[in-house]
Amino acid sequence: MTALVQAQELFARVAGSPAAGVWSSAGRANLIGEHTDYNEGFVLPFAIQHRTYAAAATRGDGVVRVVSTFAEQPVELPVAELAATFDGPAGHAVTGGVVPEWAAYALGVAWAALAASGRAAADVPGVDIAIASDVPIGAGLSSSAAIEGAVASALDELWGLGLAPLDMARVGRRAENEAVGAPTGIMDQVSSIMGRADAATFLDCRSLETQSVDLGFAREGLSLLVIDTRVKHSHSTGGYRERREACERGAAAMGVPALRDVTVAELDRARELLDDVTFRRIRHIVTENQRVLDTVETLRAQGPRAIGDLLVASHVSMRDDFEISVPELDTAVETALAEGAVGARMTGGGFGGAAIALVDEARVDAVAEAAAAAFADRGFAAPHAFTVVPSEGARRDV
Ligand code: ADP
Ligand code: MG
Repeated sequence: MTALVQAQELFARVAGSPAAGVWSSAGRANLIGEHTDYNEGFVLPFAIQHRTYAAAATRGDGVVRVVSTFAEQPVELPVAELAATFDGPAGHAVTGGVVPEWAAYALGVAWAALAASGRAAADVPGVDIAIASDVPIGAGLSSSAAIEGAVASALDELWGLGLAPLDMARVGRRAENEAVGAPTGIMDQVSSIMGRADAATFLDCRSLETQSVDLGFAREGLSLLVIDTRVKHSHSTGGYRERREACERGAAAMGVPALRDVTVAELDRARELLDDVTFRRIRHIVTENQRVLDTVETLRAQGPRAIGDLLVASHVSMRDDFEISVPELDTAVETALAEGAVGARMTGGGFGGAAIALVDEARVDAVAEAAAAAFADRGFAAPHAFTVVPSEGARRDV
């Protein structure tokens, strides 16, 4: 059964009648530009064919009820109580046990969407939303942005909010930052919502200007293989937060509003000002921003076969300077390169999740098999390898 049909069936079971429509948004893979988003820099992600679906319809009693195949116990909150529930310190409704974490993504979007539209709670009806997804969860493919984009698209139409795609991305980010309490940037939501087939989204995270960049994978006979290590991560705790703080510390020491404003040529000065760990964190961000710009230029001038070295340099920088890789990710990258991949790197926030490898279509199975063998050799749990296809972003399906 497809995730779309699962969402429809779950809706019918919980609401007792068919959904008014089904809306969806995509997972995403990031071609290059990791941890640059919250430093107001550049990223080059693309939406993938894996999607999260929200089957939804209005209801008469002013209650938002969400349910997911992921956690079938429905969670309810009156529209009138969204603000009281989520206004306040980031993540307090989740840490205080008021709302389960997964439901804070969907209900947080309802809260943020209503706030962004300027509409009063009394002016919108209740809604039932049933969610199903084929985006792997916690694998660095942004199941979180996919659920946010799907719910935002459903509510935009059912509540008549008139939000533009970029507004919806902002709504998703606000829900994730403030309702869930995960301090992530806006890249995931922009790529999930605004993706296009066969293209990546070049995003300037300061101006929020986007450009669609042709990837040319199909023309060149290339596939993008994802090797999910199955090592789970959580962005609301631990290392991710520490990396953000290091970036803020570095920017403050350099006297700039964000690391976006530091150039590669200025790294010598950064080395003098900063302790070794903070310096290396900063060096990753500054060089990664330049690699994104170089990748866009290289794709346009020479096509996707010329970007391999940039992908590999990105991985090395995350492994050695930002220190967010894990042995499973390093193994996936090394194996892919040994099997002739054009390039490979870990993708997503790190501490687990997936690596991507750009490989000739004919080599996909060989690379996947070699990765599985290398994982078995090292005593790691078997990885899950699958290809992703650059795809369309948020849409109404039914
Ligand atoms: P990623 O975005 O890399 O998959 P995150 O930790 O950012 O990982 O987001 C994953 C979380 O998003 C899940 O733990 C869950 O709380 C929520 N989520 C994602 N997809 C769904 C879904 N289909 N149903 C319910 N919750 C979901
Ligand atoms: Mg996420």
